[in-house]
Amino acid sequence: MAKRGVIVVAGGSGLRMGGAIPKQFMILGGMPVVGRTINTFAEALPGCDIVVVLPEEHIAMWKNLASRFDIAPHRCIAGGKERFDSVKCGIEALPMETEYIAVHDGVRALVSKALIIKTMLEAEEHGAVIPVTGVVNSYRRLLDDGTTEHIDRGRLRIVQTPQTFGAELLRKAYEQPYDERFTDDASVVEAMGVTIATIEGEARNIKLTTPDDMEYAEWLLSR
Ligand code: C5P
Repeated sequence: MAKRGVIVVAGGSGLRMGGAIPKQFMILGGMPVVGRTINTFAEALPGCDIVVVLPEEHIAMWKNLASRFDIAPHRCIAGGKERFDSVKCGIEALPMETEYIAVHDGVRALVSKALIIKTMLEAEEHGAVIPVTGVVNSYRRLLDDGTTEHIDRGRLRIVQTPQTFGAELLRKAYEQPYDERFTDDASVVEAMGVTIATIEGEARNIKLTTPDDMEYAEWLLSR
């Protein structure tokens, strides 16, 4: 079987949630948010290497917290200023023999095993795969003169993680200099001229960002 690696990025400050600790360490359904994410990947991809990228100042706290829960083996490393820097640190921390890499936002703790497996299998076929969902709202684009124009929502997609790639492709992509437009891994890989394949994401694979998101996630888990 191909050698698979997982980078769980949780190196952000998580400040939008408010509260004393960053959102990635909050308890959700009796388990820290990042712990739940780690365990789902470990179950979906047995034998994979899991690297968790954290703010340097929170590594000791996380190790202490993690020791009190049943969390699958993983390695912790310090992240960087931007998500781009954190993913780069994660890539460097995975063994060189890694053949496929899934990058996942640590705060998307409700991701299913099925979606993880599907993106991995598709990446093994197509090289670069991301989950997306359609949009239900209407959207307008801001123009230079300050007015706005309608966008056809039928052509819009919301991007999720895990974003999964051939390891060599991802390593090469992350050798590019940082660009402000790099908000996810697909944008970094696409900048090299590579076509990104999409699969259907999941409505519940939300990025836990606000206290309301945590309440919604608790409710989803309790159903
Ligand atoms: O900032 P944003 O919400 O886009 O972050 C997406 C994910 O990237 C989060 O899981 C966050 O913890 C992570 N991140 C990171 N290092 C940064 C900034 C964000 O690992 N410097």
